[in-house]
Order: sequence, then structure tokens, then C-alpha cells
Amino acid sequence: MQDRVYNFSAGPSQLPLPVLEQAQKDLLCYPGTGTSVLEMSHRSKAFDDIIVEAEASLRRLMDIPDDYAVLFLQGGATLQFSMVAMNLARQGDTMAFIKSGQFSSKAMQEGARWGNAVCVASSEDKNYSYIPKIDPASFPKDARFLHFTGNNTVFGTTFWELPQIPAAVGGAAETRLVGDWSSSILGMDIDVKKHDLIYAGAQKNIGPAGVTVVILKKDILDEPVDPLLPVMLRYKAMSDGRSMHNTPPCFAIYVSGLVFRWVEEQGGVAAMEKINREKAGLLYDFIDGSDFYTGLAEPGSRSIMNVTFKLPSKELDAEFIALCASRGMINLKGYRTVGGCRASIYNGMPIEGVKKLVDTMKEFELVKH
Ligand SMILES: *Cc1c(COP(=O)(O)O)cnc(C)c1O
Repeated sequence: MQDRVYNFSAGPSQLPLPVLEQAQKDLLCYPGTGTSVLEMSHRSKAFDDIIVEAEASLRRLMDIPDDYAVLFLQGGATLQFSMVAMNLARQGDTMAFIKSGQFSSKAMQEGARWGNAVCVASSEDKNYSYIPKIDPASFPKDARFLHFTGNNTVFGTTFWELPQIPAAVGGAAETRLVGDWSSSILGMDIDVKKHDLIYAGAQKNIGPAGVTVVILKKDILDEPVDPLLPVMLRYKAMSDGRSMHNTPPCFAIYVSGLVFRWVEEQGGVAAMEKINREKAGLLYDFIDGSDFYTGLAEPGSRSIMNVTFKLPSKELDAEFIALCASRGMINLKGYRTVGGCRASIYNGMPIEGVKKLVDTMKEFELVKH
């Protein structure tokens, strides 16, 4: 077999090797069934056990209280931009958004199709290099929810403190807190109880593309929705069907379950956060000590999942990225609106990969500086 490389992609990302090996081992014959999970009925006992155990494992990992439902949906995190608005607000209602980057802006655009989407904080002025603060005076009192993106995958910033809904807000339409945690779920501690709804596309830190995890307070399921809303867009229908209203992405759910078990074996989310801080620290410490590399996110807002930096010129960025690729470290190019480099170092990236990257950065600096 060809050697595996270190994949620094923002997503789909590198999965833990033991998970791939387990999936490979069981690919032709899932124990006790004589079939592959790829061929298995979602109505079978074997698959029911898989999805039930995946949910139980995620509940243990994130300490999800009983009054929250856990759903495995399709359509990616992007469909949640729409589903959140359509299930938490009636058409024309007001919703509040924090614009802290690429995906939060897209979420707001989708919200604006459905209702009155108000921006209550933005870091657009500095190309989203920091986490903005809410201006309480501008916060709409009738906002059905406040949406924020917990970890900004493109720019490499994180909400280290959850956004606060201003105390003045409240009354009839209680404002709910909705977090898109696609790129740091299971990589750092996230307090589920402080949210009304959390969603995450799987392909960053959970598993393969094709499944999206939604964790929501069960009382949201009782809210009336527009009668025209298609069944596939209703949280209530998805919950009633235990994420199997129609055929779910069985294999993606199965592999996600393997990842959950692997994270538990590593010691859970706290242990992952510790190692992720160590990994990110290796990169940030090196960048801060160098005048050749420049970090792109403001230090107080820095992500431990996506580390963005640049070299002194675009030509050097490109040369460095090519050198890394030739040494088995791929997908280090920054997003086009940001430029430079981005190292995504999710749970599946071993610390050896980060050490190898830092060594190459050192060497490149010595040669070029
Ligand atoms: C990747 C990403 C998305 C989009 O995810 P899809 O599953 O491709 O729709 C949304 N939000 C964040 C924070 C992301 O990182």
C-alpha cells in the first residue's frame, strides 16, 4: 500500500487510523450479519444497534442532558442554515446573527430568505481575524434566536466565551442560542446546556461527509412550523423517526460511531482538547517566535483546530506548500479569501504530523530568510 500522508485539509479531514482499520476489517462482513454496513437495511437490528450506540456515545462525550434530542441528518451544515431558521422562526420573524466569517455569513444569507436577519456583531472590518462583540443596543428584542459559528474554519478563530444574549432581551419571544460547531465539536469543551441548538457537519471532526449532527432542546420540537414546510426539513419528523424517517446515511453514521468510541478511548473531549492545545501551541509558539511567518488570527481569538498563517510573499507561500506536499503533508493552502496557509489539525491529526510541519517550517525559514 502507498504510504498515508498527513492531510491538513479543513474538511473532509484525516480520520484516526484505528477507525479506518476497524471499518476496513468489517467492510465485507459486519460481525453477526454476513453483510457490509454499506448494504445493510436501516430497519435491521444490527443497524439499530449501531445508531443507538452512536447516539449514546456522543451523549456521554458531550454530556448531553436528557431534555436534548440528538439527530443524524443529511444536507450538511449548510442545510442547517435553512432548517434552523425554518424551525425556530416563522416566516418574516426576526433573527440575530454574528458575522465572524465565511460560514456565519452564509447562515445569515439563508436566514434572510426566510425572515428578517439582523447582524448584531461583525468582524468583517478586519477580514474576520477576530471574534466580534455584540452591541447590546442593536440587538433586536424580538429575535427568535441568535446564531453564531463557534469555530470559524476559514479564518481560524474561535468563540472561547459563548456570546451573551443581552439581558434586556426577553419577554414573549425568548431568544434561543444556536451554535454551528462543525469544525471544533469533540475537539474542545462545548457546554451543550448553554445552547438551545448545536449543529455540526461530520466531515471536520466527527467522521465522513454525508451526516450532520444536530443536538437540540426537545421543547423546540413542540414549536408550530409552517404547514408548507417539507417533512425532511422538520426537526420533529426527524426526531419522531429517530433519524430514520427515510434511509439515513448508514455508513457515515457507522463510521461516526467508530470515531465516538475512539474519542472515548482517548479519554474523552477533555483529553482531546488537551492534545489539540498542545498541537496548536507548537504551531503558534513557533509562528510567534519567527519574523518569517505571521499568524493571521488575533491571539485572543485563535482556533486550536484551524491555524492560519502566511509567509513574506505569495510566491513563498506557494513554494512552502509545494515543499510540504512533496514531503507528505497535503492541503495546506489557505482559503482563497484569506490566502497564505491553513493547517487544520482536528482530532484525527496526530501530534507527529504537526511536529513534522513545524520542522519543515523551521528548515524553510533557514533556507529562505
Ligand atoms: C464546513 C463548514 C460548514 C459547511 O458544511 P457542509 O457540511 O459542507 O454544508 C458550515 N459551517 C462550518 C463552521 C464549517 O466548517
